This record gives sequence, structure tokens and C-alpha cells, in this order.
Amino acid sequence: MNQCDILVIGGGPAGSTISTLLSEKGWKVVLLDKDKHPRFHIGESLLPLSLPIFDKLGVRDQIEKIGMLKRGAEFVSQYHNGANVTYYFKGAKDKNHPIAYQVRRAEFDHILLSNSRDKGTQVFEEMRVTDVDLDSNGMRLITAENCNGDPIEWKARYIVDATGRDSFLAKKLGTRKNNRFHKSSAIFSHFENVERLQGEDEGNISIYWFDNGWFWMIPLVDGTMSVGAVCTPSYLQNCGKDLDKFLWDTISGSPDVTRRMKNAKMTIETRATGNYSYYSDHLVGENHILIGDSFAFIDPIFSSGVHLAMTSAINAIDVIEATLNGTPKLSSTKREYVRKSKQGLKTLSWFIYRMTQPAMRNLFMNPRNIFGIEEAVLSMLAGDLYRKNSIDIQLFLFKILYYINFCVRWKENWGAYKRRKPKVKDNFSMSM
Ligand SMILES: Cc1cc2nc3c(=O)[nH]c(=O)nc-3n(C[C@H](O)[C@H](O)[C@H](O)COP(=O)(O)OP(=O)(O)OC[C@H]3O[C@@H](n4cnc5c(N)ncnc54)[C@H](O)[C@@H]3O)c2cc1C
Repeated sequence: MNQCDILVIGGGPAGSTISTLLSEKGWKVVLLDKDKHPRFHIGESLLPLSLPIFDKLGVRDQIEKIGMLKRGAEFVSQYHNGANVTYYFKGAKDKNHPIAYQVRRAEFDHILLSNSRDKGTQVFEEMRVTDVDLDSNGMRLITAENCNGDPIEWKARYIVDATGRDSFLAKKLGTRKNNRFHKSSAIFSHFENVERLQGEDEGNISIYWFDNGWFWMIPLVDGTMSVGAVCTPSYLQNCGKDLDKFLWDTISGSPDVTRRMKNAKMTIETRATGNYSYYSDHLVGENHILIGDSFAFIDPIFSSGVHLAMTSAINAIDVIEATLNGTPKLSSTKREYVRKSKQGLKTLSWFIYRMTQPAMRNLFMNPRNIFGIEEAVLSMLAGDLYRKNSIDIQLFLFKILYYINFCVRWKENWGAYKRRKPKVKDNFSMSM
């Protein structure tokens, strides 16, 4: 029987990060991924605050080589005559993180996984975990099957679920729930010959609001443009079988996106993903922990998924080591992991749930740095979500401005709010 200290299920950014750092600390780590890398994955826009994590992993140079330099995020609103506003990361409260990258995830994830292997993790690709026995005494039993369908078993002292939106453990334990306050679906593809932004702005992500949601345009280093639309699930239900055509039809709903794409050619087949907003109210157990998307994902609007996934991987290490070393402070370490995991999601969720409201569009299209509010918003956009209280007051003032804006044009905002039909309240304060 194969044995290890820690078995990580999933080789995305969360799984690769945690396995690398635990292997470096001398633990015997096995990682199983159902796919063969490199493989396509959505989530190509990264945040500045992930760069210190790349340094910690020792992959910064490699990411730099495959990455398109991103200095900020451009917001374009057809409800403001197609005006655009760019938020540059250099304007954030902490000036030390002015850039990020846009990457092909196939390359990015492959670098992270190879790095983990180089640092000592035993990596098995095309190895799908099919069952785990969390009740077994002492060592946990994990069953997987290889690409030929042959079953293979491992025993591990600790299991890390990094299975992303597959949410392996949360589904097994019945703790994965759809987000009641936010429902979104996405349709996306890659294109060539899309008009790029000029000069230093070339690598910036562009966000376009339109009647059915919003578009992203993410420029990649080889001239490719990743274009996707995030819409209500009901809109995407009408997509039929021809996804390529549905994406083109959706694009025609935004004059500004259409203009940039007048000579565009699709280079890969269009993909769609159904309602992906969910959370698990269980994050950590006796000998297992959920990291990255395996426990929650809300929405891609702030390009925060990879950053949250890698950060949760780093935060989980204390819990795993405290468990394996039998530290007396284990309970407080677990509580701290849950608190931190919810903190980032909570900050983001308030903004995400309201991002398509006219009041929010108005604030984003008219940035003002009164009392450092714009700096705080930029810090959030850069992924600065975990340093306690550093931007809380400013974000609170932003919220007041939002509610004032809402009231001033209440008919328009109330109509948009009712169409979205959420019970707007963050649900990341539930106990986990
Ligand atoms: C439409 C859309 C757009 C997005 N855009 C962005 C963006 O621009 N920027 C950003 O930062 N984030 C974005 N995200 C989010 C981002 O994709 C995720 O947050 C990120 O990939 C999470 O990393 P992870 O390691 O937790 O999971 P993943 O990257 O999903 O990795 C999970 C891994 O687990 C493996 N796995 C799953 N089940 C099993 C199993 N049973 N056995 C073995 N292996 C298994 C999978 O093969 C996969 O390799 C977007 C998400 C969506 C839906």
C-alpha cells in the first residue's frame, strides 16, 4: 500500500502551492490530479498580491516569462456613453505591488505543478480520486483510478482537498451549497485580431458592463485575447447547442466589445460554465482540510480566484502541521484558518453582489480619492484582502457612498435590484 503524510487531491494553483511548501518542510507529500498537464483552465487574470507568493514558491521568473504585464483594470460602461476608467494598481494604498500578469492557465498551472514535483512532491497525473474514507482509524484511505480505470489506493495521515469547483469532499460530506445571494454563469473563448489597448495599458484587463451582465477581455502575451461574458444563468439557458454562435450573439449586445472585435477570429471552441457560485459550510475536519475553490467560489469579476486559492493553501499549512505534530493550540489554529478564509470572501462578496447595480457602476466610473477611498478600492482590486483593518474604514465609506447613490436614483437601482432578485446579505458569516 502506498503511504504518505499528506495527500493532496488536485493540482491547480491551490494544490500545487500547498504541496510545494509542505514538501519543502520535509513532509512526505503525494498529489493526485485527474488531468494530464498542461491542460486548459479558465482564470487567466492574476493579482499583484500573488507575486509575493510566486517569490515564496520560487517561480516568479518563470511566470514573468509566460505572463502579459498587467498594470490595472479598465472599466467601460455603455451606460456612460462608452466612457472608460482605468484603475492602476500603483495607486493602491501599498505602493509595493504595482503589477500583475495575465497568463494562459495551462502554462501557469504546469509551472506550479512541475515546481512542486521538483521540490519533492510525488505527483501523479491522470489519477482521479474516487473515494476517501475519513472514518478509518489513524491513516486515511484514499481510492483513485488511473487513466485505464485501474483502482489504486493510498494511505495518508492527512488529506487536502484542492479539487476546485469539483468540490470533492464538500460534495461527499453534503456541505456544498449554492450561493443564495449570487447566481452567475459564463461563456468564453479565445480570439485573435482583437483590438489591443495601447502602450503601457496593453496588458490591462477590460471589463464591459452590458444588459445581461459583463464581459472580460484579457490580453495574453502571444496576441490572443480571452473574451468571456458573465451573465445570469437564465440568460445562458437559451444558449442551445451552438456555443460559438451564442457567444458571438452575446458580444453583439455590447457596442464597445463589438467595436474591438470587428476583425476577430475565434481560435478555440467556446466553453460555458453553469451557475458556479457556491460555498461549503465545512472547511476543516479532524484530518482533512478544504482549500481554494474546493470550499467556495463567488464570481470572477475581480480576478481573485487564483489569489484566494493560493492564499488559502498557505494559510492551511499551520493547521496541517499543528494536526500532524499534535500541537495543543490546534483548535485556535483551525478557527484562525476559517476566519481568514471567510475574510477575503466577505470583503469581495459585498462588492460582487452589487457590481451590476447602476449605483455601483456610477461609483466605479467616477472614482474619487476622498479620504483614501479610491486607494482602498484599488487595494482590494490588487488582492490586498488579508491585512487586518488596513482598508476597512475607507471601504466602509465607499459603502455609504453606494447607498447614497442608490437612494438618489432609487427607481433605477430598485428595478435592477429586483431583476437580480437576491437577498443581498453576505453569506460568508455562517458558521463553518
Ligand atoms: C468563468 C470564470 C472565470 C474566471 N476568471 C478568473 C480570473 O480571471 N482570475 C482568477 O484569479 N480566477 C478566475 N477564476 C477562478 C479560478 O479559475 C479559480 O478560482 C482557480 O482556478 C482556483 O484554483 P484551485 O486550485 O482551487 O482549483 P482548480 O484550479 O480548479 O484546480 C483543481 C484541480 O483539481 C483537479 N481535480 C478535481 N477533481 C479531482 C479528483 N476527483 N481527483 C483528482 N484531481 C481532481 C482538477 O483536475 C484541477 O486540476 C474564474 C472562474 C470562472 C468560473
